[in-house]
Amino acid sequence: MLRVSIFTSRIITNLTMKKSLYFLLFALMTGSVYQCKQATPEPETITEEPFEWVADTVADLRILRYQVPGWDKLSLQQKKLVYYLNQAGLAGRDIIYDQNYRHNLSIRKALESIVGTYDGDRTTSDWQALMTYAKRVWFSNGIHHHYGNDKFLPTFSREYFQSLLSATGANLSEEALNAMFDPEMDQKKVSSDAAGDLVLQSATNFYAPDITQAEVEAFYLKRIDKSDQRPVSHGLNSRMIRDASGALAEDVYKADGLYGPAIQEMIKWLTLAAGVAENEAQKNAFDLLIRYYQTGDLRTWDEYNIAWAQTTEGDIDYINGFVEVYNDPLGYRGSYENIVQIKDFEASERMQVLSQNAQWFEDNSTILAEHKKPNVVGITYNVVNVAGESGDAAPSTPIGVNLPNANWIREHYGSKSVSLGNITEAYEMASGGSILNEFAHDAEEVARIKEHGALGDKLATALHEVIGHASGKLNPGVGTPKETLKSYASTLEEARADIVALYFILDPKMVELGLMPSLEVGKAEYDGFISNGLMKQLRRIEPGKNVEEAHMRNRQLIAAWVFEKGQPDNVIERVTRDGKTYFNITDYEKLRVLFGNLLQEIQRIKSEGDYEAGKALVETYGVQVDRDLHQEVLDRVKPFNIPPYAGFINPELVPELDENGEIIDVKVTQPKDFIQQMLDYGKKYSFLK
Ligand code: ZN
Repeated sequence: MLRVSIFTSRIITNLTMKKSLYFLLFALMTGSVYQCKQATPEPETITEEPFEWVADTVADLRILRYQVPGWDKLSLQQKKLVYYLNQAGLAGRDIIYDQNYRHNLSIRKALESIVGTYDGDRTTSDWQALMTYAKRVWFSNGIHHHYGNDKFLPTFSREYFQSLLSATGANLSEEALNAMFDPEMDQKKVSSDAAGDLVLQSATNFYAPDITQAEVEAFYLKRIDKSDQRPVSHGLNSRMIRDASGALAEDVYKADGLYGPAIQEMIKWLTLAAGVAENEAQKNAFDLLIRYYQTGDLRTWDEYNIAWAQTTEGDIDYINGFVEVYNDPLGYRGSYENIVQIKDFEASERMQVLSQNAQWFEDNSTILAEHKKPNVVGITYNVVNVAGESGDAAPSTPIGVNLPNANWIREHYGSKSVSLGNITEAYEMASGGSILNEFAHDAEEVARIKEHGALGDKLATALHEVIGHASGKLNPGVGTPKETLKSYASTLEEARADIVALYFILDPKMVELGLMPSLEVGKAEYDGFISNGLMKQLRRIEPGKNVEEAHMRNRQLIAAWVFEKGQPDNVIERVTRDGKTYFNITDYEKLRVLFGNLLQEIQRIKSEGDYEAGKALVETYGVQVDRDLHQEVLDRVKPFNIPPYAGFINPELVPELDENGEIIDVKVTQPKDFIQQMLDYGKKYSFLK
């Protein structure tokens, strides 16, 4: 529930602007101020080879590359640590395929066999269609769209595919073939249609196919002790099955259980990582993580998370485990993910200003006094550079993560929040053409976003993570949001964190703290948010569909709510010009007040566990799409031809060995292309059947 997607970030277009941003950040870091912004031109002697940010484009996807800045500053021991952690992460890669859908692994392996070995004609349109399909499967870790959750269908025939299977000696069961080609079968990865049975409607492999939502709810109703102040994350690391008697049971992911071969391999690399840990606390956390993978004990997972959350020294960090529960329609089971991170000291220091002032933000928030935390504790925020990603974090990646997820651990032991700096960077650098001009109401708006948009986005992300998710408290005796707000919990939580960011990004305090040069940054963020929430993001939805994804729902919810409530004062005016729709903010201060009002209400809903009000808010403002406006958006973005989704190839971490097989260095290289990396991964990290 605490993951920021790439779409939080606005596309930035030109290199000059990026340089000024760097300079701006540098000025902030060193305490020098804005007047020296245009000093010191780039030295002319620097000649860099142009870096190819875009590796591939397929269907609605772009596959990008990212760099690993600061690699050469690491010691050999730290490089080894990063390498081992990355290997541990990749060792579990198969798991996410199997979690996403029960036929994904066998389909992927058949595709790998065909793409890797077929020696027939690779120039036909059928072959192109096959390659498109294979890339989409690799990108989504399965046959359902990574974001929209719908199954995508091959555009080649079943007969053609069968001819490729027999030509390469690969095989696939009849049922897996049906899964690929039958449009009706397991159509949706994760269903959010609360009118039906969420478990039966979802294709995810967290539940054996005939298990119903009511059965699962009854199972956990019995198991969960409401009075437990420190509950484990029930169901997080298991698949739900029926035992011999037909009763529900958890098939636990562990070294000698489900996904055992992959987990044993992960343990092997984590053990090596523990051997080169940067400090005792980090080593202790590795030991606990290893014990958890050996036993599958969720108490150990909590102990590990406490140790991990408190390990704040050291330059290397990581996320590894069954973590986010978005892919389970009922929000119990965690998807496997791995992210290896190197600290970005400069940017982190800047963001620390926010966490040091967390109490000020809590005290000055619009939420009701009884919902405020008297002591906001344990907030840390770091910008990191990613060195490798796997599982649910790749190729599609978050740009920010805030963990652990267990509320009681966050409350008592704190949490760690990171923004993935080099990923954001790569995404921005790759976005050559921009649709900014198309949807901006006027030239002033465009100029402001060009000048301040990048900083605005960085600060909004920081506020969302550090201040937003940490803010507010539940009323005594009210269950967790997952229990009270059920399928609306994620959308409402993301909305809450977004509005905290929106409310404070126009606060003079941000200028006073030296975080931004003027309130123009906040205005740029408002412009971007409103045009995205009311229009731009609709480009990622197919005609006739409604908004389904939690982050998109939350953005539309916020934008549509303030648009409606601002109508009497025309706070946001809807303008039609040359047959095109624009939304123009006429009064930024009044808009800020509206954000504050909505924040108070959503916090009240969370604090009181008011399911009906939460449901009404999401269903009224977050879900429905204005068909005409949607079509207009699709028509207007079509000429730009920019795939709406982006993901990443990982750099390769290549160890250099001496004659005794000892690692003497680790080099970072870029893979040739997406296909090659996927085939290599398939060969090297295939531990499950
Ligand atoms: Zn969030």
